[in-house]
Parts: sequence; structure tokens; C-alpha cells
Amino acid sequence: MPYCPCGTGKKYLDCCGLFISGKKLPPSPEALMRSRYTAYNQINMDYIARTMKSPAADHFDAKATKVWAEKINWTQLEIIRTTIDATQGYVEFLAHYNVARKKYVLHEVSEFKYEDGKWYYINGIYPDKKSG
Ligand SMILES: [Zn+2]
Repeated sequence: MPYCPCGTGKKYLDCCGLFISGKKLPPSPEALMRSRYTAYNQINMDYIARTMKSPAADHFDAKATKVWAEKINWTQLEIIRTTIDATQGYVEFLAHYNVARKKYVLHEVSEFKYEDGKWYYINGIYPDKKSG
């Protein structure tokens, strides 16, 4: 059984596979974030779509995202920091990837909301990008 792409060192079926298959709900924003990273690896746009809510979901284009995801070779996920309270959470991470053998790093603070018994991704903030 292969190791999970999210980098926990666990086997896929004992890690993000539990959430992506629907056997379990991600118990924390970090678990959800990791499983979404893994779903991007798998180009599983259904999972990406069903784990997000507004405002992120408002401008989500599954087709365009799929085209983007198909070009990407994800190499490593680094969780920098997570903060969480009862209904809100933030996960700051670096996602390393290659496109056409060129290396890139996505630095994002993802925002999550707990609603109807589940965590959802609701927004992405990019600390390295200038606002405006
Ligand atoms: Zn995982």
C-alpha cells in the first residue's frame, strides 16, 4: 500500500484515503487541508468541490482547475502553522510542485469553517502576494 502523498508517513488508506473515500470526516482543518492536497494530486475535483464553501466555492471552476492540476507534479507539503477554535481554523502551508520540470512553491494560509458537523475550506490568503 503506498504512502500518503500528504507526507504524514502513514499509508494512504490510513490517512487521506479515509476522508477522500468518505469513510471518515476530517477531524480538523489540517486533516481536511492535507486531504485536499492529496485530492489535487489525484486530480479528484469532486472531492475538492464538496469540501469547499463560499466564498472560495463561488469562483471555483472545476474544469479550469482540473486542467491546471493535470500540469502539476506535487512534490511536498509543509504545514507551517495551524490555528483553530470551535468553528474556524487556519492552516498555513507551503506546497512544493513542479510544472514542466520547473520548481514552484505555493505559500497559502487556508481558512476553514466548521458547519453542519463538517470542516470546509472557505478561503485562501496568499501572504507573498502584494494586495490589490
Ligand atoms: Zn494524507
